[in-house]
Amino acid sequence: MYDIIIIGAGVIGALIGREASKYELNILMLEKDNDVGNGTSAANSAIVHSGYDPKPGTLKAKFNVASVPLYKDLCSDLDVEFKRIGSLVVAQGEEELPRLDELKARAELNGVEVKMLNKAEVHALEPNLHDHIVGGLFAPTAGIVNPFELTAHAIENAIENGMTLKLNEEVVAIKKLEDGFKVTTKNGDYFSKVVINAAGVFADDIINMVSKADFEITPRKGSYFVLDKLTVPLVNTVLFPLPNIHSKGILVVPTTAGNTLIGPTSEQIMSKVDVGTDYASLEFIRKNANRLLKDIPFHKTIRTFTGLRATPSTGDFIIEHDKYVKGLINVAGIESPGLASAPAISLYVVNELVKDLLPLKVKANFNPRVRPLIRLQRLSTKEIQAKVKENKDFATLVCNCEKVTKAEIIDVLSRALPVNSVKAMKKRLRTGFGLCQGGFCTAKVIAIMSEYYGIPVDEIAYNEKESYVVKHGKKV
Ligand SMILES: Cc1cc2nc3c(=O)[nH]c(=O)nc-3n(C[C@H](O)[C@H](O)[C@H](O)COP(=O)(O)OP(=O)(O)OC[C@H]3O[C@@H](n4cnc5c(N)ncnc54)[C@H](O)[C@@H]3O)c2cc1C
Repeated sequence: MYDIIIIGAGVIGALIGREASKYELNILMLEKDNDVGNGTSAANSAIVHSGYDPKPGTLKAKFNVASVPLYKDLCSDLDVEFKRIGSLVVAQGEEELPRLDELKARAELNGVEVKMLNKAEVHALEPNLHDHIVGGLFAPTAGIVNPFELTAHAIENAIENGMTLKLNEEVVAIKKLEDGFKVTTKNGDYFSKVVINAAGVFADDIINMVSKADFEITPRKGSYFVLDKLTVPLVNTVLFPLPNIHSKGILVVPTTAGNTLIGPTSEQIMSKVDVGTDYASLEFIRKNANRLLKDIPFHKTIRTFTGLRATPSTGDFIIEHDKYVKGLINVAGIESPGLASAPAISLYVVNELVKDLLPLKVKANFNPRVRPLIRLQRLSTKEIQAKVKENKDFATLVCNCEKVTKAEIIDVLSRALPVNSVKAMKKRLRTGFGLCQGGFCTAKVIAIMSEYYGIPVDEIAYNEKESYVVKHGKKV
């Protein structure tokens, strides 16, 4: 019997698993997909919000604000790209200035550092703003993070500290037993004393398998444009219009890799799996972003994508012991700012909620750090030459756009966290993330994975299990 089963390998499950792996606990993580971080954690704005926006007194405000100072050391330990670039919410006309004052007052209540900027100051900070932008609220502690790395590296670290991960294990039933739970997946039964429900948009369905959810989770779509890396950045900070009741509005944000995201929309839908992107949403984004910035190079678009917010009917995160079934911990309704709040959520879930149920004995040999990725892009010419001397695979360029070599791919394949698909490799190393979107490197990645695993190329999946790229199987 496991001490804990965590359902869901998104950023929330990942950081909870990593925190729990500090203790003498036998932990199993069950994920329905063929890779970790394949749900909402892979399709968001990747902003570490400063915390001025959530309503004071809510769990969103509490965990967002508490997480911001944790990000630097966490990302250093887990070798995750993180940049504290600040955020700027702007007033589009004099009539919007009082709303900035309201946000400033909210920031003060939440204990978040902000600074009001006048017209000259906002234009100095963001030279591409339209002239009708008359002021802004700058939050210096906001940042951007690589959400793929955060999720994957936290899970890799947890595995190295003893956690077991099982992919392609969709939980379909949960039964409360006298001394714990029987968790049934499509492949079999697992037993644990405690179950942590971190199933994203499906968290209410998980509760209803064994208890009764007093709330509903409704998916809310958010679509984006992704622009290619630009010679001169379009924005220097995370740029927001004023928020509305449903979302933070159409924002423009650089990614840690140097691309630009423009979006997201906010559309309530019924399906928990519909991540399709439609023309009307993209036109809406284009229209709104064009009101903020001059000459947005939409012709540099390399991709569009959509993520699903897990919007709870309560309006706030639900992070608590289940009301009816002892031993079930629900971490549900983690919509934005869920990524920004994940570090403090994980500390609370393990050190407060799990502690109520299980003894927490610190592991003597817990290692908080992952082995850093080898990234040739970050090395000097001299260092690259030394690497090539050491291993000729460093001279074999696989992904031209993102400058990834065969040696880097093999390093990732050799790690504790499995890489089962082309898309998983893309999320680990950015192969296929660039201008060609995998047009040139996908075949090479498949060949390397096939050689490494000793299986035929037609058994390498693109994303889901059996979504083969070569010869047969599902078309991708
Ligand atoms: C458009 C958009 C923009 C956003 N922007 C930001 C932002 O800039 N900053 C920010 O802080 N937050 C942002 N968020 C919110 C943030 O992305 C989420 O709060 C966070 O990713 C939620 O993580 P999670 O682990 O709860 O969910 P997920 O990442 O969805 O993980 C849940 C996991 O559970 C698995 N699962 C589900 N059911 C089962 C089952 N039955 N059995 C096994 N596994 C199961 C899923 O496959 C999935 O992997 C945004 C969200 C969206 C949609």
